[in-house]
Amino acid sequence: MEYKKLVELYQRIEGTSKRLEKTFLVSEFLKDTDIDDIPKITLLLQGKVFPPFDERKLGVASRMVIKSLNKSLGISSDAIEKEWKETGDLGLTAESLAKRKKQVTLFSQTITVSKVVSNLRKLAGLEGVGTVNQKVALISELLTSASPIEARYIVRTVLEDLRVGIGEGVLRDAMVWAFFDDSIHINYDPEKKAINPENRELYNAYTDAVQEAFDILNDFSEVAKIAKTSGLKGLKSIGLSVGKPVKVMLYQKVKDVAEAFERVGKPAAFEYKYDGFRVQVHKDKKGISVFTRRLDDVTSQFPEVVEYVGKQVRGASFILDAECVGYNPETKKYLPFQSISQRIKRKYDIDDMAKRFPVEVNVFDILSFEGASLIKRPFSERRKMIEDIVTPAPFRIVPAKQIVTDDPAKAQKFYEEALAAGEEGMMAKKLDGIYKPGSRVGYGVKVKPVMESLDLVIVAAEWGEGKRSGWLTSFTLACYDPDSGSFLEMGKVGTGMKEKVELGVSFEQLTELLKPVITKEKGRNVWVKPMVVVEVNFEEIQKSPTYSSGYALRFPRVIRIRDDRSPEECSDLSLVEDMYSHQRGR
Ligand code: AMP
Repeated sequence: MEYKKLVELYQRIEGTSKRLEKTFLVSEFLKDTDIDDIPKITLLLQGKVFPPFDERKLGVASRMVIKSLNKSLGISSDAIEKEWKETGDLGLTAESLAKRKKQVTLFSQTITVSKVVSNLRKLAGLEGVGTVNQKVALISELLTSASPIEARYIVRTVLEDLRVGIGEGVLRDAMVWAFFDDSIHINYDPEKKAINPENRELYNAYTDAVQEAFDILNDFSEVAKIAKTSGLKGLKSIGLSVGKPVKVMLYQKVKDVAEAFERVGKPAAFEYKYDGFRVQVHKDKKGISVFTRRLDDVTSQFPEVVEYVGKQVRGASFILDAECVGYNPETKKYLPFQSISQRIKRKYDIDDMAKRFPVEVNVFDILSFEGASLIKRPFSERRKMIEDIVTPAPFRIVPAKQIVTDDPAKAQKFYEEALAAGEEGMMAKKLDGIYKPGSRVGYGVKVKPVMESLDLVIVAAEWGEGKRSGWLTSFTLACYDPDSGSFLEMGKVGTGMKEKVELGVSFEQLTELLKPVITKEKGRNVWVKPMVVVEVNFEEIQKSPTYSSGYALRFPRVIRIRDDRSPEECSDLSLVEDMYSHQRGR
């Protein structure tokens, strides 16, 4: 397929904010797309060339794109940079420069979707010194043949910042409309921008099937292929596959024990809510792999986890869900998450780090065992399996501490014990609940005492003054809107951080993270690519006309950097709305 066709779609989608219209445009496009192109198109629609669990990353910085533009257009880097500072979007800059380009190469060649994907994928394979020129050559090869509008989207895709606004929800629905319209007749009305499916129930069943397939495979390109070739039956038969991470199950927050029982029934299982980071551990005959909740492979960063699972867990093949908690090797005191978070991205001195900041693995769920999926089995059965196969070894690997009770007093006592032990709170789990990858459906809930908190992404900041100059000190926070795939502002935060890092969050740390992703500057204000997620405590959510989300936070405080969360995984608008309407007294 010609890249031009996809670019036309991008433009039409960028031109509307209506979710159903976007869905319609994407679905019509998918209907017309050849099966061989479907995987590439679904990835590119999300601004990606690799599925999310793929280890390979493009890792191209703005600097390199400027070099490539310089090479392909023959315009000086200074001129490119100047224009970029004004637009804040290197894609738009590429487009307008290409329109005025000096060299007369005219876009002689048509670019295909395959060519774009192939060149970008090659980028990920090039690492280390001496590869810069090869990378620049790959990017400028595309830019040289690109029309101005194609250049806009090539640059944005290279920078992994497509800005078209196709969220997960839109893509999922578009697939349902594209591949199953014959049986469900969605009846889209372009005038009213509304649908009227003949059979709502069937429509919902297809939507659920596509969503469930996505939660397991984590890859829309794969889901699309299956949906198009083997329909509902194919989607339903998708199973877990050991070695390939699955989206983790999420838990909603409740305020106390009474509400916990209300949500998960009586009796219920109660567990400590450990303050660590979540891992999904896979074992099969190829070996043991450890993934974060963002599904990044961190096997090599946590050699001791591999060792404990290998020695203390019986079975040749399984998938475990667990929380790793750091502790001080001398005092054996448990440590807050921040102290071990540095291990997640660490590439060197791994063994030394493992000795200084060891973790204990607390196993709280199991998704498959010896080739059989357990996600549709009741939680009580899965828990029994954990007890059966994990030989507990404190400070190495243990089943999560648990009681089963229908007595609120006992649950309350357990909760207080958890807090006294320095844990974050407790989890309450429905005994017959299934494991639902990727959803907050309420088979388990968390009880936490702290103020409300949200995980928000930083989208802008301000340079500090006086002794804080050189640091970014005030941060604009945003939540995620999965419908539009965009980030909506909810106010600024400047407290909760220290100047230099000890434990906790510092201006210095945030400045280091944000500086490379600045997209635009004006006076003291900077705008950044939404990448850094922070957990923010606050007293209350208020309605606010000032911010694009329609909400603002009262007394926000940054409490930690959530480098285990991707921007799309930060709190979404519906959660904010939900919290707002459930606030005490409302
Ligand atoms: P939150 O991050 O506040 O949404 O809380 C949910 C997280 O708590 C999970 O993603 C786990 O990382 C963590 N967690 C700690 N202990 C448990 C447990 N016993 N069961 C489930 N999740 C737990």
